[in-house]
Amino acid sequence: MKTALELLPGRWWRARDDGRLECELCPRACKLGEGQDGFCGSRGNRGGTMRLLAHGRTSGFAVDPIEKKPLAQFLPGSHVLSFGTAGCNLACRFCQNWRISRAGAEALAAEPTAPETIVEMAERGRCASVAFTYNEPAIFGEYALEVAAACRAAGLRTVAVTAGYVWLAAREEFFAGMDATNVDLKAFDDGFYRRQCGARLGAVLDTLAWLHRETPVWLEVTTLLIPGLNDSDAELERASDWFAEHLGPDVPWHFSAFHPDYEMLDRDPTPVATLARARRVALAKGLRYVYTGNVRDREGERTWCPHCGKCVIDRDGYRLLGCFVRSGRCEFCGGAIAGVWPEP
Ligand code: SF4
Repeated sequence: MKTALELLPGRWWRARDDGRLECELCPRACKLGEGQDGFCGSRGNRGGTMRLLAHGRTSGFAVDPIEKKPLAQFLPGSHVLSFGTAGCNLACRFCQNWRISRAGAEALAAEPTAPETIVEMAERGRCASVAFTYNEPAIFGEYALEVAAACRAAGLRTVAVTAGYVWLAAREEFFAGMDATNVDLKAFDDGFYRRQCGARLGAVLDTLAWLHRETPVWLEVTTLLIPGLNDSDAELERASDWFAEHLGPDVPWHFSAFHPDYEMLDRDPTPVATLARARRVALAKGLRYVYTGNVRDREGERTWCPHCGKCVIDRDGYRLLGCFVRSGRCEFCGGAIAGVWPEP
């Protein structure tokens, strides 16, 4: 166990008049007295300074297809080195990664992993990018930015898989280090966010609209559909209307299947028909790139040209079967396909 002074100081906090420290990284705004840790477990008040409790300590690495993040239109067919730490600033009852997100520092490697080591691992795995994933990357934002800088210096892209529950100043710095992101939109209902996740919908919508409007970060969105909780036609219609108005037609949206896990074991897995229905609702609102995920669905796992209707990226699960996009254009009709594509 490190002493307080051996822990690096964190960013994004302020000292309050009442003697406590207030974290300004996420909307939880934890107010910490001496010796207390934040809800996410990543930072704590030690001697009047917000210090990072597990800086650089990782919980596991894997080389994945980029399609698994999921990112459908960011360097399709490439590999990504995925890693995370532990802890989370949300408390989703249905978390599919709860062994990491609810774990404390004991789940982490004893020694920090140097950013250069991560770059070497990515290069050995022939990866085009490195993803901060498995748990909420914003809570280890200081470390993620160090790794991101090393990645970019080596010509690797960076990816954040996030719930988007990040406060203003922190998100500007954090996403400045990212080339692409997949943001979870867990529902389109603030009650769902409060009851099922311990968070608020408004802050996530704000992050999504800001990412699209004010940053060059390639954005895709994922919604895990849970039977009976966030999959009604009315909610999907409202979400699709908001999506079309604030993110436009070209941001890809993934509807993925829930499997009973963690504290939500009393619901059935999401049927493919529900995902297909959600996809139809979103397409009918004018969204161009809508996918189904976590299930086998030949229609919903492929990318279709919005101009000529032909399949421009053929997939079988996470496996790329063919890509018919050249320099951002459909090979069949020449229409623009939104995305980040490999150099010709
Ligand atoms: S990032 Fe962690 S410590 Fe900071 S406000 Fe959010 S949950 Fe609390």
